[in-house]
Amino acid sequence: MLAPLIIFAGIIFILLFGQTATFKDGIVGQLYIVLTSLIFLRIKNLLIKIFGSRIEKVFDFFGNKIRYNRNPMILIFYLLMVSVLVKFWFDNVTPDFATTKSLDPYQNLYLCLYLFFVMITFLFGVFTKPGFVTDKNNEQYLKRYTFDEILFFKEQCETCKLIKPARSKHCRLLNRCVARYDHYCAWLMNTMGEQNYRYFILFLFANLFLVSFGLYTVVRVLEQKVINTKMFELKFRDSKGNDMDIGFTFMMNYLKRTQPYTLGFGYLLISLFVIVILFIIYHFRLIWKNTTTNESVKIHELKSFIRNYQLQETQRKKGGHEEDTKGAEKLPKEEKNNKGIEKNESKSKNVRKRNIKNRTNKENQIPKNNIKDEVVKEKENIKNEKAESNLNNEIEKTKLIQHWEENIEKILQLNPKKFKSFYYQGFWSNLKDIFFPKKIKI
Ligand SMILES: [Zn+2]
Repeated sequence: MLAPLIIFAGIIFILLFGQTATFKDGIVGQLYIVLTSLIFLRIKNLLIKIFGSRIEKVFDFFGNKIRYNRNPMILIFYLLMVSVLVKFWFDNVTPDFATTKSLDPYQNLYLCLYLFFVMITFLFGVFTKPGFVTDKNNEQYLKRYTFDEILFFKEQCETCKLIKPARSKHCRLLNRCVARYDHYCAWLMNTMGEQNYRYFILFLFANLFLVSFGLYTVVRVLEQKVINTKMFELKFRDSKGNDMDIGFTFMMNYLKRTQPYTLGFGYLLISLFVIVILFIIYHFRLIWKNTTTNESVKIHELKSFIRNYQLQETQRKKGGHEEDTKGAEKLPKEEKNNKGIEKNESKSKNVRKRNIKNRTNKENQIPKNNIKDEVVKEKENIKNEKAESNLNNEIEKTKLIQHWEENIEKILQLNPKKFKSFYYQGFWSNLKDIFFPKKIKI
């Protein structure tokens, strides 16, 4: 019983942390590629063999062209997980309702209502557009938030050729500028922005209610099993002849022996509960601080920029005397910046070249059966494709750092320990903006 539980927890762990900086180069990162990319490719090839190339259109529908970043594996995994858990519920938990006194007979009806809430928020999350910035609504979006001149300043999107409104970001997966961009959600296979972030939050809550309800029911069922044995009316007599109450461990051991499936199901629900709660806490912390996920990343970068700058300053002051005697030449700041841009541009050219080279190589390669080789190859492909789609991000980051360097006096006046959001308007007002975003014509 424990083995499938460990495998399941492992899969969740890989999907959640497979792409983080700590794990992506290790075995977890490799397994992530197998789970999200290689299996997908294998299934696709198999289906094409069976049904012919027409099936490819189905994969295109799921965004096959950008499969590395926007693949449906995690979404499918979520739906599968929900289906398996519901099936397990009906097979193993439902039969005990009749004998459980503390439960009323409508448990399955409640379950369906919670499931309905989950599926409705899921569908809204998947199919609602995040709020694209177009040339028709650009003016309106520009008026919504003023540029703070720190995280957001007047600049043109390299792809959309529009002035990017404050709090927006060019989404590299949907290839459009998204108003009040938050993050890309792999579970919903959609970018969360001004218009659909609310559905993401509701989706989290729907999952929380569903899991809590399941957990409550399982606890009640198990409680009844223990009550039926009357084990708590019994006393233990230890070797010294003292009477002892029946302990928690004894009860759990009894349940492990007699109700392994329901107990395992309960453990699984506890771990899901923890995961959902962590997500909710993280996002409510952001809402409390009036920040988007995207802005919190930028604030993090700003903090490290200030820290590095101050560190360099102190080092410069320390080594200042030596430098003077040696007569070391310092580059003027502007020149330095220009060099940075040149470097970035040549870097992007290299990435493009490498990708073209890689593609031609790919076409000539004979498929190997060695899974390890495949993972390495796939990892390289993903890296290249990501680098290409990341170009916009990199250019954006360079622009941001350049902007900070140009306005260094203003930046240094900020207190990194204190700043929350530059768009702070209070929790309730922010909540209102998230759940009832102001309408944009067209
Ligand atoms: Zn754009």
